[in-house]
Amino acid sequence: MVKIGVIICDRNRTCTGNKCFKAINERDGAFADYPKDEPVEVVGWMACGGCPGERLESAPADMKKFGAEVIHLASCYLAGYPICPYLEDHKDYIESVVGLAVRVGTHPMPANYITSHSAIGDWKRDGAEKWLRDITGNPRASEKYDSTNPNFLKRSP
Ligand code: SF4
Repeated sequence: MVKIGVIICDRNRTCTGNKCFKAINERDGAFADYPKDEPVEVVGWMACGGCPGERLESAPADMKKFGAEVIHLASCYLAGYPICPYLEDHKDYIESVVGLAVRVGTHPMPANYITSHSAIGDWKRDGAEKWLRDITGNPRASEKYDSTNPNFLKRSP
């Protein structure tokens, strides 16, 4: 059993979380290297509270109390325009002060976002590539999570 907490960007605070939970269940994106035969329990799910991260000092600590071993900063940290300018601060705080490991990303980045960010060039400009490896390296997975595609969820998994 691996226990995790997920923090999402507050710009997506009303997100249902479907893609993150699908990725956890199907071991896609940042969860691809979690063993399929080992359950993953989500002990907490919360938006960061808005720039620069109002809930940063409480949410990961609460998740730790409930057994979280790893905190995932969700893929939406990198999907919006611009990417979260505080991502590195959030990661450093959780690792150094809360004492939990941090993984950047959750579900595979939808193909549509990869196309858009590549056209704009902001990921490169903002040095995001080092955070994107787990969630952009598999084109098939990015297609699978492209919820803007009219065939989304109609394709075979
Ligand atoms: S951009 Fe970063 S700090 Fe601002 S709301 Fe999103 S995750 Fe939080």
